[in-house]
Amino acid sequence: MSARPWPGMLGNMHPPTLLRVAIVGSGPSAFYTAEALQKALGDAVATDLFDRLPVPFGLVRGGVAPDHQNIKAVTKVYDKIAAHPGFRFFGNVQIGRDLHVPDLLNHYHQIVYAFGCESGQRLGIPGDDLLGVHTATEFVGWYNGHPDHQHRRFDLAHGQRVAIVGNGNVAMDVARILLTDPTHLASTDIADHALEALRHSAVREVYLLGRRGPAQAAFSPKELEEIAELPDVGVAVEPREAALDPVSAAWLERDGSRSQQRNVKLLQEHATAGGAGKGKRLCCRFLVAPQQLRGRGGQVDTVVLQHMRLEPDHAGTPRPVPTGTTEELAVDLVFAAIGYKGVPLPGVPYEPRQGIVPNRDGRVLDRDGGNELPGQYAVGWCKRGPTGLIGTNSLDAKATVAAMLADRAAGRLLTATHHDIAARLAQRGIEVVTWADWQRLDRYERAAGEARGKLRQKVIERDAALRLVQQLRAAGADG
Ligand code: NAP
Repeated sequence: MSARPWPGMLGNMHPPTLLRVAIVGSGPSAFYTAEALQKALGDAVATDLFDRLPVPFGLVRGGVAPDHQNIKAVTKVYDKIAAHPGFRFFGNVQIGRDLHVPDLLNHYHQIVYAFGCESGQRLGIPGDDLLGVHTATEFVGWYNGHPDHQHRRFDLAHGQRVAIVGNGNVAMDVARILLTDPTHLASTDIADHALEALRHSAVREVYLLGRRGPAQAAFSPKELEEIAELPDVGVAVEPREAALDPVSAAWLERDGSRSQQRNVKLLQEHATAGGAGKGKRLCCRFLVAPQQLRGRGGQVDTVVLQHMRLEPDHAGTPRPVPTGTTEELAVDLVFAAIGYKGVPLPGVPYEPRQGIVPNRDGRVLDRDGGNELPGQYAVGWCKRGPTGLIGTNSLDAKATVAAMLADRAAGRLLTATHHDIAARLAQRGIEVVTWADWQRLDRYERAAGEARGKLRQKVIERDAALRLVQQLRAAGADG
């Protein structure tokens, strides 16, 4: 890195006694960044987390499936991070609308972008716009009560057969929610509108479409085991698709992880068992990629699948190549579960191919491969793309914080001439949801859930959440 001081920076001066850091986002990577800073600097750091929603936790609240409460329990760790004296939450504050990047540059010594990847990749094939074709991201947000997706409609009542494109853990979440008996979801924090629709669901068969083979299935084995253990759900795999081609067999032996080896074993067991005789089925298909979607009256009714074979790329990784043959699969609904995609934030560089903030080891660049932007960092999915489990973000945050601490030690910090961001927000008439407000709302949601035999009754709509926050604040609802 260049030793020259950046314009608008402290230069090679002593670090400030209190390092003020803005973190844009309040999902796992944001909290792990705050935690790593707190561990390194103790009381000498103040972290302000901004979220455009009135509630924290990003994908832990809006992405993790409602029947995976053990994963959602990670918020207890985040509560402890939030108890640090230098921690503040600014919910309902959208960067690019309520505050702008120059505001952050004026108020903080360092800024960390932790805003994730908010949209779902679409298939981008003919027929993608037919009714009944959705992204998994929309469905996941809808059943989790994410305000962006509360108004969506999924015609589960008339669809018996669903195709899910992709076979990662998001595809598995969607498959499991569609196949689970809704009475088992009723006591979770699932959104009421989703529970109601699932209660009237006609879905009997879910096809999981993998463009590569069983050795390259992207789901974790325990996700498949969980579906196989659902009462009344069989798992079917076509024996010829469960068999490994020589390229994959050699690759699995050489490069395959334990999870991939376990997946192959499980899938081959299911291929032998057949999966028949149950009321509902998960059919895991391999070496098939959707070529186009067809419909009648604007509604999807067929996926045209091209058959694929695998060929090693220059690094020896098996990649799918069309064989030239196709088949038609009759469907009522299609979900694209082929990954999340980043959405640009105004004023922050964006690399459209990967959908991330261009960065070098967490230091933000003005463009892909360009120059470092002083005092600006990225972490989590907006840094590295939409991969990895929640815990992956802890390591990732430590790496970004290592770069931040090195820059602090070298005096490479923003000058932070303004101090009072709360006053700036108040001046602009922004209704900020503080951490204390969130704690009241959290207690309210859990109590409302308990009264209805649920873990939590989420307040979904943004204005309703803000009204409630004001009421709870006025009532001093601390108990
Ligand atoms: P993912 O794991 O990257 O899976 C994406 C899937 O889509 C892969 O099967 C991929 O196949 C396929 N795909 C991509 N582009 C395609 C195309 N154009 N046509 C057909 N198929 C295509 O992504 P994800 O499921 O969205 O999950 C994101 C991350 O969150 C993952 O790290 C996941 O483990 C994590 N997550 C974890 C949990 C959990 O722990 N329960 C739950 C949800 C998500 P190829 O492999 O051939 O590219």
